[in-house]
Amino acid sequence: MPELPEVETTLRGITPHLLGRFIKSVSIYQIQLRWLIPDIVSQLDNIKVINLERRAKYLLIHLENEQTLIIHLGMSGSLRFCKPSDERRKHDHVIFHFNTEQELRYHDPRRFGCILIEPTISVFKHPLLKKLGPEPLSPDFNDAYLIDLAKKRKKSIKTLIMDQHIVVGVGNIYACEALFMARINPNEVCNKVSAKKLKALVRAISSILTSAISQGGTTLKDFVQSNHQPGYFAQQLSVYGRANQPCPECGTSIIVMTLGQRSTFYCPKCQK
Ligand SMILES: [Zn+2]
Repeated sequence: MPELPEVETTLRGITPHLLGRFIKSVSIYQIQLRWLIPDIVSQLDNIKVINLERRAKYLLIHLENEQTLIIHLGMSGSLRFCKPSDERRKHDHVIFHFNTEQELRYHDPRRFGCILIEPTISVFKHPLLKKLGPEPLSPDFNDAYLIDLAKKRKKSIKTLIMDQHIVVGVGNIYACEALFMARINPNEVCNKVSAKKLKALVRAISSILTSAISQGGTTLKDFVQSNHQPGYFAQQLSVYGRANQPCPECGTSIIVMTLGQRSTFYCPKCQK
């Protein structure tokens, strides 16, 4: 599933090819993604792309007509550039045609993603965006913020950091890895985790996401090659997906448990 680093990589990959270009037309082959693609998307005609940004895992493409495309990649979505002559693959549901030699194709076998359009002026008030917590790499996600939230709550620390209202973009893999790096048991109740460990957790989340994004940067070329999968990359993982394998720090077997319906991997010795 595309996580925040993959979405950030997608943003960085597509931005140079879209900024200042004109969407000539949009071909929609499958209107039913997670939600129906609004009609107005298929009516875009000679509209300039004036800015692009990411909020959580949503890509926002701001257009000159004061509308903003909201694109989410869902479970299996991807965006990539193709030549108009390239054969359309199965699950290429939407094609954005530009005034260039390239077109942008939205590919999504499971169709849990979305393409919506909203007035730019109110896009951050959209129900999908308005209640999101701070970005994990922004100054708003800091020690004081996490310490204050944790002391008021009695759920597990892992559930807390995966809550999009608390902080966005910490998916299951990154939550497991950050808790390992900060030496916190994923099941520990929030208000029992020391301030020192919470500070370590803020640093761990930032460091893991930053490193994933920089690894993604090395795959940027794939966005303009039609014969490669775009922008997803294998992370060096310490605990995630490594049940019964030795902890890289102490050699103890990594344990897997289910927490909040998600597989949760941790080292019982390092993460007490
Ligand atoms: Zn260990």
